[in-house]
Formats: sequence, structure tokens, C-alpha cells
Amino acid sequence: MTERTLVLVKPDGVERKLVGEVVVRIERKGLDLVALEMRTVDRELAAQHYAEHDGKPFFSSLLEFITSGPVVAAVVEGPRAIAAFRQLAGGTDPVEKAAPGSIRGDFGLETQSNLVHGSDSPESAAREIKLWFPSL
Ligand code: GDP
Ligand code: MG
Repeated sequence: MTERTLVLVKPDGVERKLVGEVVVRIERKGLDLVALEMRTVDRELAAQHYAEHDGKPFFSSLLEFITSGPVVAAVVEGPRAIAAFRQLAGGTDPVEKAAPGSIRGDFGLETQSNLVHGSDSPESAAREIKLWFPSL
């Protein structure tokens, strides 16, 4: 079953020039890029994107981080695209959860600045794609 997922290269990934690396891994996996765009994120978009984390201790720090520089937003499509990209990304904590070979496992050290975002469920993907790419 073909799915779509929302992928972000976060400000740390753009700053570290890892956009190409992330795109290569998405393409090498066999997933399709449906949309790909550099964006600056205002506080409102950031808060909507991360609404599920509102109230958590790291929420305000997370909004600071995600609005700190340009991001690259993409819609990625393919069979089981949501789980497929989550596997490419690796677990949230790049050291303790992300396996070597994953994007976070290969390039990350900190839980907040963990390079990429990928939707976590079909419901999240639909909500996030509508938020970032309303015309799709
Ligand atoms: P993800 O789905 O793997 O990205 O993880 P979550 O949805 O749980 O968290 C969203 C994002 O918030 C993560 O990717 C991190 O950038 C950040 N984050 C999650 N947990 C923590 C935490 O304990 N501390 C900090 N500072 N940031 C966190
Ligand atoms: Mg998440």
C-alpha cells in the first residue's frame, strides 16, 4: 500500500550540509520524492507541527531549535513510507536509540538536534502534509 510521509531535514542537518545525504538515503531506499522545498519555520508553524509535545519540558526549547534556521521539508511516497523513513532516521536519541547505519545513528549526538523528522503514523502524516504542503 502506497503511503506518504512528511520528512524534515531540521536546522542542524541543513547547517551541517546533510541535505544531500538524507535525500540520497531516501532515493536509495526506493522511496519517491513528491515535494521538496527549503523553508523558514515561524513559531506558529513550529507549534502546530509539534502540538503533541505542548506542555512537555522540552517544548519551548524544541520550538527555538526548529525555528533557528532553514529546514528542508519533503513529502516522501512509497510502500510503507512512514515506517520506511522512520527506519532510515533511527530512534529519537541518536546515541542510545538510533542504530549505526541510520541517519541519526550515523550523524547525531543529541536528542534535540537529531537531524531529521518523519511522521509517526498515517494520522500524523496526513495532518503534517496538510500543514506543510496544503496544496498537495
Ligand atoms: P521523533 O518522532 O523521533 O522525532 O521524536 P518525538 O516525536 O518524541 O520528539 C520530537 C522531537 O523533539 C525529537 O525529534 C527531538 O528533536 C525533540 N525531543 C524529543 N525528546 C526530547 C527530550 O527529551 N529533550 C529535548 N531537548 N528534545 C527532545
Ligand atoms: Mg515524533
